[in-house]
Amino acid sequence: MQSLSNRAKKLEAKPMTLAERAYLPAIFQGLSITMRHFFRAATKKQVTVRYPEEKRPFSPIFRGLHVLKRDEVGRERCTACGLCAVACPAEAITMVAGERKKGEEGLYREEKYAVSYEVNMLRCIFCGLCEEACPKAAVYLQPDKMAPPRFERDEFIYGKDRLVEPVDPNARSIRGIQLTPEQAQALSQKISQQPA
Ligand code: SF4
Ligand code: SF4
Repeated sequence: MQSLSNRAKKLEAKPMTLAERAYLPAIFQGLSITMRHFFRAATKKQVTVRYPEEKRPFSPIFRGLHVLKRDEVGRERCTACGLCAVACPAEAITMVAGERKKGEEGLYREEKYAVSYEVNMLRCIFCGLCEEACPKAAVYLQPDKMAPPRFERDEFIYGKDRLVEPVDPNARSIRGIQLTPEQAQALSQKISQQPA
């Protein structure tokens, strides 16, 4: 998708220096790091964990996977204004805006919405600037979720199917604007009345 900010630069590959072409300094540097960790692990406590069965606890200030929030009646908050994409230093966000049609008032909060919204998790540096730039409290970085390992690069491009939070109040993200107990109850009732 075309970048919204037009800040992307094409980089030319620099020619390698003599030391880089010889490879040996880089090989010795790599071996020294490996040996340092080897002896540290042998003499002190184990430094690795058996991921994914065992997980390290997240830091209290961890910023992980994005979530696109819904409002108190389940409508998407994002209006595809593009401010998050312009604020993003890594050019990781792209979107396509669309106009809400008659009958879609229950799906989208405002007349303009994101038909498509994508975050490239391989480009993202999880700085949180998109979250700060959003005037609609629509995008947040979650403190308890990260992009799991994948084999294909394409799988790190997260679209709306993986970014928009569920309508169900019990399955919503812990980040962003929370529902009051009354709003959560009203929404649960609305969901239970919908035909299966
Ligand atoms: S967290 Fe930072 S790098 Fe990642 S999408 Fe948001 S603004 Fe861009
Ligand atoms: S997430 Fe927020 S800043 Fe980004 S396009 Fe949607 S409304 Fe605008």
